Amino acid sequence: MSKGALFIISGPSGTGKGTVCSELIRQGNVFLSVSATTRDRRLNEVDGETYHFLTKTEFEKLIADGEMLEWASYNGNYYGTPKAAVEKTLAEGRNVILEIEPQGAFIVKEKMPEATLIFILPPSMKVLRERLVTRGRETDEQIKERLDAAAWELEQAAKYNYIVENDDLAECVDEISAIMTSVVNMKNKVYKLFDELGKEV
Ligand code: ADP
Ligand code: 5GP
Repeated sequence: MSKGALFIISGPSGTGKGTVCSELIRQGNVFLSVSATTRDRRLNEVDGETYHFLTKTEFEKLIADGEMLEWASYNGNYYGTPKAAVEKTLAEGRNVILEIEPQGAFIVKEKMPEATLIFILPPSMKVLRERLVTRGRETDEQIKERLDAAAWELEQAAKYNYIVENDDLAECVDEISAIMTSVVNMKNKVYKLFDELGKEV
């Protein structure tokens, strides 16, 4: 059986990554990796589903034990991708999405060059701010920190394989879905060619 494809989705906080990923999961054969974080759990977030919410000590132990595929510090908290679940899911032939920020994305790309990096842009900074305010999850201070972080994140967009704007949600989801389908089809095509050569990829 061929391995699943790995996709990384990044973009400034509030751009709609979580919303887009939920829709991609609802539509199809793709698994969303559950990250670990040391940030506080918000009211509607479920431990083990939204994130694995850990203490700093627990998180640092996972790093020391080599159990993180990648990790990064974002606005004073650790965020990271537990390695085992991603490797297992890919080995089962299922496609995986990591919804992570760019520092982590580049670490994964170095370790797994076959990963496809997709960056989501907001239509404007005004809309980005409005989405953060409307979401109502962060304090004014935290929103400011997230908008400050957006400048560096936007600078990284050019290093991604694809850049997609999230203006109309359905259009954005369709565009990313089409990218994913195309990548999976091409990957399968390459496997088939190797098969014809009698070689393993
Ligand atoms: P992120 O995961 O990138 O931080 P979210 O998915 O939490 O962003 O989205 C931030 C807010 O913007 C949420 O309230 C969400 O419902 C809203 N949102 C997401 N995409 C769109 C869109 N295309 N149009 C309007 N609002 C959107
Ligand atoms: P939030 O606090 O809004 O859930 O996430 C803040 C930022 O951390 C977002 O840019 C999100 O993509 C990123 N993030 C979430 N999980 C991970 C992860 O496992 N690794 C890295 N590097 N970033 C993550």
